Amino acid sequence: MSGLPPIIVGAGPAGVRAAQTLVAHGLRPVLLDEAPRAGGQIYRQPPPGFRRSKKTLYGFEAGRADAIHRVFGALAGKLDYRPETLVWNAQPGLLDVMHTGTQAADSIAWQDVIVATGATDRVLPFPGWTVPGVYTLGGAQVALKFQGCAIGRKVVLAGTGPLLYLVAYQYVKAGAEVMAVLDSSSLSDRIAALPDMLGQPLLLLKGMYYLAWLHAHRIPLESHARVLRVEGDAHVRAVVWRRESMTADALAVGPERSIDCDAVGFGYALRSETQLADLLGCRFRFDAVQRAHLPERDDAGRSSVPGVYLAGDGAGIMGADAAELAGERAALALLHDRGVRVDAARADLLERRLARIAVFRKGLERAFPFPHKWAQLADDKLIVCRCEHISVGELRQAVRDGNVQEMNRLKALTRVGMGRCQGRMCGAAAGEILAQASAVPLAQVGRLRGQAPVKPVPIGMRMSALSSASSSASVSASAGSSVFSVALAAGEDE
Ligand SMILES: Cc1cc2nc3c(=O)[nH]c(=O)nc-3n(C[C@H](O)[C@H](O)[C@H](O)COP(=O)(O)OP(=O)(O)OC[C@H]3O[C@@H](n4cnc5c(N)ncnc54)[C@H](O)[C@@H]3O)c2cc1C
Repeated sequence: MSGLPPIIVGAGPAGVRAAQTLVAHGLRPVLLDEAPRAGGQIYRQPPPGFRRSKKTLYGFEAGRADAIHRVFGALAGKLDYRPETLVWNAQPGLLDVMHTGTQAADSIAWQDVIVATGATDRVLPFPGWTVPGVYTLGGAQVALKFQGCAIGRKVVLAGTGPLLYLVAYQYVKAGAEVMAVLDSSSLSDRIAALPDMLGQPLLLLKGMYYLAWLHAHRIPLESHARVLRVEGDAHVRAVVWRRESMTADALAVGPERSIDCDAVGFGYALRSETQLADLLGCRFRFDAVQRAHLPERDDAGRSSVPGVYLAGDGAGIMGADAAELAGERAALALLHDRGVRVDAARADLLERRLARIAVFRKGLERAFPFPHKWAQLADDKLIVCRCEHISVGELRQAVRDGNVQEMNRLKALTRVGMGRCQGRMCGAAAGEILAQASAVPLAQVGRLRGQAPVKPVPIGMRMSALSSASSSASVSASAGSSVFSVALAAGEDE
C-alpha cells in the first residue's frame, strides 16, 4: 500500500470514526474541519475554558459525545488533524483550503477523500423571517452548545422535525421561556409513522420522552401550525400563526393567533451539505423521501467517482448513530480499494445496521412531513434569497417570462443562490417555488450546481493563495483557478 495519505473532510461522528478506522489499519489520514474543535454538529464542543458538564451540554447523548471525544483524543499524534480549516473548493486531485484564523490558503493533493460534511437546517421562509431575532433551529442550538447563550428570553420555535422538540427541551432546560412550539405536522402523521420507527425503540423512546417532558412542563405544543408572519422592525416582537389542516376535500383554517416573543428559531428538517461532492464530480440522484438531489453512494459509501467516499449526513440525512457507522464503513471501503485486508464480516454488519436505521429515517420523514403546500401558499412578496433580495414573485415572473424549468436557468435569470450562501439557505425553497410555478416535478427542476467557494472566503486570502501557487509548481495551475473563484466571490461580497 502506498500513495498520499487519505483525506477526511469533517470531524463529526462520521469523520472521527473514519479516521479511527484508517489509523487502526496503519494509515495516517489528514482530517480537515473548519470548526475549531472536533465533534461535528451534534457533539460540538464549547471553546476551551467553558466549564459546562457533558450532561448539561449533550443530555442523553452525553455518553456518545464522550465516546467520540475520547476516540478523537486517542488519535492525537496518529493523524494530521487541521482544525479551523475550511475546504472551500474541490477539484480532481486537489482540495483548496483556508485556515479560518490566519486566512492562509493552501492546496492539498488528494488520492482518496472521505467527504463527511454533515447538514444544515432546511429553510422555508415566511414573512418576517429576515427580521433580527429570527434564527434557524441549528443556529439556536449552536448558540446554546458553543457559547452557552440563548437566542432570546421568550422564544417561539417553529417548523417541523425532531430537532424542533429537542431544541425546545434544551432551551427550557437552559432557562429560556419557550412560548410555543409550532409544528406544521400533526399527531396523526406521527402515529402513521410508528411501524417504521419501532425498529429503533431507544431512539423512539427518546423522542417520546422529549414530547412528554415538554407537555409536563406546560409548553404549548401546536400541530398543523403555519407561521403567517413574524412582526417587528428592529427586532422580533411577535409571531402570528394559525392552524391549517386538510379535511376530506378542503383546507380547514383556524383563527389567527399572536404570540409575543423576542426570538424565533425555525427549520423544516435538515438538508445535506453536498457542494464538495458536487465539485468533485459525483453523480447525483433525486431522493423523493428527503426531497433533495443527493450524491449517489453504494452501501459502502463509494461515490460514482473513484477515490471519493461519502459518509454521514452530507450524503443524505440519517442521523448521528448512522454517521458513525457510515464513517467506519467508508473507511473500510477506502482501505479495501487500496488493497488493505479488512474485516468483511464487520463491513457487512455495518451495512445491515445502516439499513435498519434507514427504515427508521423513512419513518421520521413520515412523522414530520414536508409542508407540501408551502410553495403554493407563499406570497409573491416573500423574500426567498436574502443574499440577493429575491422574492417569490420575481422567481415566478422569471418562470412565466422565460419559460424557466431548471434551477440553474432560474439562477442565471434572477441571481437566486448567487450570493454569500451560494444557495445553501435558499436553494431548497427556490426549487419548490420553481416546481410549483412551472408545474414541473421537483425531481426534474434539478439543483443548483456547486460553485466555489462553497462558503464565503475573505479577499485577504487572495494573497496567500497567490503565494501558495507561486511557491509550488505542482499546484500552480489549479491554484490559479482557485484564485479566480476567490476574486469573484470577494467581488460579490463587496
Ligand atoms: C443544526 C443541526 C443540529 C443538530 N442537532 C442534533 C441534535 O441535537 N441531536 C441529534 O441527534 N442530531 C442532531 N443533528 C443531526 C446530527 O448533527 C447529525 O446527524 C450528525 O452530526 C451527522 O454527523 P456527520 O459526521 O455526518 O456530520 P456533522 O456532525 O455535521 O459534522 C460535519 C463536520 O464537517 C465540517 N465541515 C462541513 N463542511 C466543511 C468544509 N467545507 N470544510 C471543512 N469542514 C467542513 C463541519 O464543521 C462539521 O464539523 C443536528 C443537525 C444539524 C444540522
